[in-house]
Amino acid sequence: MSAPPVASTVLSFEDARRVVEDHAARILPPGTETVDLLDAAGRVLAEPVLADRDLPPFPRSTRDGYAVRSVDLTNLPATLDVIAEIRAGEKREEIPTSLGPGQTVSIMTGAPVPTGADAVVMVEYTSRRGNRVEITRTVTQGENVVPRGAEAAHGSGLLSPGVRLNEVAVALAASVGKSRLEVYRRPRVAALTTGDEIVEVKAVPGPTQIRNSNSYSLAVQIRRAGGQPVLLPIAPDEPQALQRLIEKGLESDLLLMTGGVSLGRYDLVEEVLSEMAAEFFFTGAKIQPGRPVVFGRCGAGAPARETPATYFFGLPGNPISTMVTFELFARPLLAALTGQSPEKLTFLHARLKREIRIKTGLKRFLPAILSGEFENSEVELVAWQGSGDIAATARANCYAVIPADHETIAVGEWVAVLPR
Ligand code: AMP
Ligand code: MG
Repeated sequence: MSAPPVASTVLSFEDARRVVEDHAARILPPGTETVDLLDAAGRVLAEPVLADRDLPPFPRSTRDGYAVRSVDLTNLPATLDVIAEIRAGEKREEIPTSLGPGQTVSIMTGAPVPTGADAVVMVEYTSRRGNRVEITRTVTQGENVVPRGAEAAHGSGLLSPGVRLNEVAVALAASVGKSRLEVYRRPRVAALTTGDEIVEVKAVPGPTQIRNSNSYSLAVQIRRAGGQPVLLPIAPDEPQALQRLIEKGLESDLLLMTGGVSLGRYDLVEEVLSEMAAEFFFTGAKIQPGRPVVFGRCGAGAPARETPATYFFGLPGNPISTMVTFELFARPLLAALTGQSPEKLTFLHARLKREIRIKTGLKRFLPAILSGEFENSEVELVAWQGSGDIAATARANCYAVIPADHETIAVGEWVAVLPR
């Protein structure tokens, strides 16, 4: 039995990306586990994190200086009586319970402002003589004081499930006493590379053979996106063996194949998947590199479909095509499988350093060097031999995003940049 040929669906870059995002939005988060706060970086939060008390827990001075009643500073200079000193962490018993007219306390950054004071004057505007201090500036009510609970009220939500934990989120969790966090399990992502010419890294390649680099670049990208790579053996360009390995790959949470999706006679990936009753959402995107990229879904025990369908991508085999199409399409789906809340793709911008002339029709993601300093970022393409040129791409540090409808881009024009 032979399945009908796969209908070709070639989309614009933006449409293809939205197709992936629509599927990503419907993915249910995976199971969870609990990790130590120190191991939480890069993981995706699976529980809400709430404020366990008001933040700050007391009215906090943001300066070293004197806590005052702002009305006492109407006429300047004002001389006030210093009745106490309050350090950060001062015991509650040591803090005056009220501040009378004409009274002040010396206070340090991070210390609690006593009841009765409504502002802090910076030490720079004061001069101390014994238990008296002369103040030469007025303050507005509330100046240099963060009121109790102003950052977050007790019980309010600080972090929601779906957040990827970075240093800010980890600091917030630490500040409310969460030494362990419930996070989503890392999804398993199978990487299956295809091609009779491909040999393992440790093998001595024959004169026309190519070492497998795609499985390794994918492993890096999968890890960086929060997945657990599962490297499968290299599949030959032969349908039965390819099908067996695809079936194996479909046991993971996501299957990424590289190679075998172009129009060559031995590009068998789509044909084999079609035999397995796969659904195809697109079979190409108007981009370079990576035009033949394929996105679909297939049940493992196909055609019986014993297990729920697994998403797959067929990434074109040229190494830079594999890397770019992972970043543009596989990444958002994988992010959803990690439990992350959806995020739109955004680009940085830099001014073009050297003119680009290019054929129209495809949106291009070309290896480029981002340079300059501070607000003056510049970008220029690296010379390369096309999407198989890993060496040139290693000299680049980003991809310049070249619109599909521009033949020339002049020096100084703003160009979108996909960081790497
Ligand atoms: P394909 O997409 O199968 O037509 O492959 C396109 C190009 O990428 C060919 O030159 C392949 O030799 C090369 N290629 C495919 N798979 C890999 C791989 N795993 N590592 C390095 N190069 C590859
Ligand atoms: Mg091939």
